[in-house]
Amino acid sequence: MDFELSKEQKMIQKESRRFAQEELAPRYSQWDREKTYPRNLVKKMGELGFIGMSVGKQNGGLGESYVTEGIVCEELSRGDCSLPMSTQVAGHLCAGLLEQGGKEAKKAFLEPFLAGEQICAFCITEPGSGTDAGALQTRAEKKGNTYILNGEKSGITAIMDADFALVFARTEPGATAKGVSCFVVPCNLPGVSTQAYEDLGCNAIVRGSLFLQNVEIPESYRIGEEGKGFKLAMRGFDISRIFLCLEAISPALVSLHETIEHVKKREAFGRPLATFEGVSFPIVEHLSLLEAVRLLCYKALWLRDQGLPSTKEAGMVKWMAPRFSTNAIRDCIVLHGHYGYTKEYPLEQRLRDVLAIEIADGTPQVSKLVVQREFMGRNFLPYNYR
Ligand SMILES: Cc1cc2nc3c(=O)[nH]c(=O)nc-3n(C[C@H](O)[C@H](O)[C@H](O)COP(=O)(O)OP(=O)(O)OC[C@H]3O[C@@H](n4cnc5c(N)ncnc54)[C@H](O)[C@@H]3O)c2cc1C
Repeated sequence: MDFELSKEQKMIQKESRRFAQEELAPRYSQWDREKTYPRNLVKKMGELGFIGMSVGKQNGGLGESYVTEGIVCEELSRGDCSLPMSTQVAGHLCAGLLEQGGKEAKKAFLEPFLAGEQICAFCITEPGSGTDAGALQTRAEKKGNTYILNGEKSGITAIMDADFALVFARTEPGATAKGVSCFVVPCNLPGVSTQAYEDLGCNAIVRGSLFLQNVEIPESYRIGEEGKGFKLAMRGFDISRIFLCLEAISPALVSLHETIEHVKKREAFGRPLATFEGVSFPIVEHLSLLEAVRLLCYKALWLRDQGLPSTKEAGMVKWMAPRFSTNAIRDCIVLHGHYGYTKEYPLEQRLRDVLAIEIADGTPQVSKLVVQREFMGRNFLPYNYR
């Protein structure tokens, strides 16, 4: 077992940490206040090769390992833990799907996406189906060599800024994962409209609904085989969930280290706060739990790099990482006393942002069901797995 990063990984880690410190952290709260998606910085991220890093060289990517892509996600999230939800998490899902597309779709969408010139959104959730994603009802009807799409997608990260969306729609009637196909939909097509949400956090990557009304797209914008789209989505989730977890852990660790500095300096009853066990022990407990989950994240990514299954590990970290991270950041706020509750410190924003990660890409409940299925088998699930 070797925990040492390669020379190249260390360089990428250093560069992404520098980018997070210099470019992301100073504007983190401004983007939240102003609800601005920093397109210019995403372009820089594209130039630095931080987007879609594991896309194969044959498709214009760098062909980096998932571990390396995870390192970048973790480092960027030290400066801003909401933007990577669009660029690294939805971005990973979309890039992985586009790699399965034809030449035309790759040229039109994958290339500008990797360059940071176009923003993508991943659209599976609907008003009537989230956890039970396979029950989606958006329709795609074949008409000659085009498809006509009708339906509504909800809760979509960065949909207000997206140039194109990866949309899952039903090509066969029913309410199961069978017969679901995946399509690229440019957001400027006639019949496409969006509506923004007012969210608790992650305000730079405004979520919203996507409406599709008789939207006509060429057959060449279908990704993968007709009716086989759902499996493609699920394959991506095993990785994107881990990136999300690293995205949750980073701001918690940064907050804990800031808190350590604070309690070493701040005094009460004539002694530094850090000398009281009621102050130091919670910090130690959070650091221990987060380090354990962080290592499990990297184990899961390593497994996938070896072509081995990682579904169980992805399910485990997905319920633990955001929960442990929110618990840690909440304690950091309390340990900063009344200052911690002000907007002068990034702690409250981090708490709001990390809370989103509990729900996005699957709630703690569905993550535990995934782990349960892996250990106990499908026959012991509380529902008929689609
Ligand atoms: C910040 C954020 C970003 C998101 N980004 C995207 C995006 O980019 N693209 C996209 O397609 N979607 C996105 N989503 C949607 C997200 O994937 C769904 O919200 C999530 O899967 C849950 O679905 P739901 O909201 O419909 O909840 P529901 O499915 O209605 O579930 C409600 C509650 O019931 C629980 N529950 C459901 N079934 C079971 C069960 N069998 N056993 C126990 N408990 C159960 C759930 O855990 C949850 O707590 C995002 C959501 C958030 C909050």
